Amino acid sequence: MPSKGYPRMLRRGERFNPLEVAKQTEEIVCRESSRKYTSFYATGVYGGIATGYTVGCCFRCFFCWTDFSRDYPELYGDYYTPEEACNNIVKAAKRWRVKKARISGGEPTLCRKHLLELLEHMEGRGEVELFILETNGLLLGADESYVRELTGFKKVYVRVSLKAGTPEAFEARTGASREFFKLPFKAVKSLLDHGARFHVAAMSDPRIMPLSERRKLIEKLAEIDEFVAANLEEEVCDPYEATIVRMSYYGVDPVKFFGGSSLEE
Ligand code: SF4
Repeated sequence: MPSKGYPRMLRRGERFNPLEVAKQTEEIVCRESSRKYTSFYATGVYGGIATGYTVGCCFRCFFCWTDFSRDYPELYGDYYTPEEACNNIVKAAKRWRVKKARISGGEPTLCRKHLLELLEHMEGRGEVELFILETNGLLLGADESYVRELTGFKKVYVRVSLKAGTPEAFEARTGASREFFKLPFKAVKSLLDHGARFHVAAMSDPRIMPLSERRKLIEKLAEIDEFVAANLEEEVCDPYEATIVRMSYYGVDPVKFFGGSSLEE
């Protein structure tokens, strides 16, 4: 069971230490080298990709599309060893005739031992040519050695998704205290320094991120590397069921939001 005060859906003004939440979440979703997943399937994004849907994240973004396993990780999923998870992802890849794979849903960099062992298994599987690691960048920014370990895998391509361009907006949107704002940017710098294959995305949907903040985010990225900044992938917020519930809980009217109004934070 999660410890008292474990954050669930975000209320406006709430904040927490995301590294602590990462640890608390790992206590629930990791067991030795196993990790909780809810399903294995393939989907059309990235031109077709096999996916293991993991449980648990260290942020609580109010616009998050992930199902409610993010908020109640103790209630969802089953534990899979790295080998079992790899076999299930490869099975989905073969069934849907795709060559790419990823873990999605929660934050893949939680349960480090699981991820690294899973990637080792993936390296030996000819059915998968590319493994896309989607991350919010927190844990990679907190520990450079994690980035170094990831760059040892030939099939890994990292996609870092930034949530905000200022410390205040980062805290308001994710619930993670503003002093951790710099860590995802630090992850970008480490990935660059270690020669990783990666690109950066941002939830820069103008209904969520004002243009002035978007500019700051791009400037901050350009200070790290102009090419990375120029190739920013810009995300759009979609009305998934969980997104609508989280928005309402946070105090944003989803009807107005998806009708085109921008937010005031
Ligand atoms: S949007 Fe991503 S980083 Fe944010 S809570 Fe959802 S899964 Fe975690």
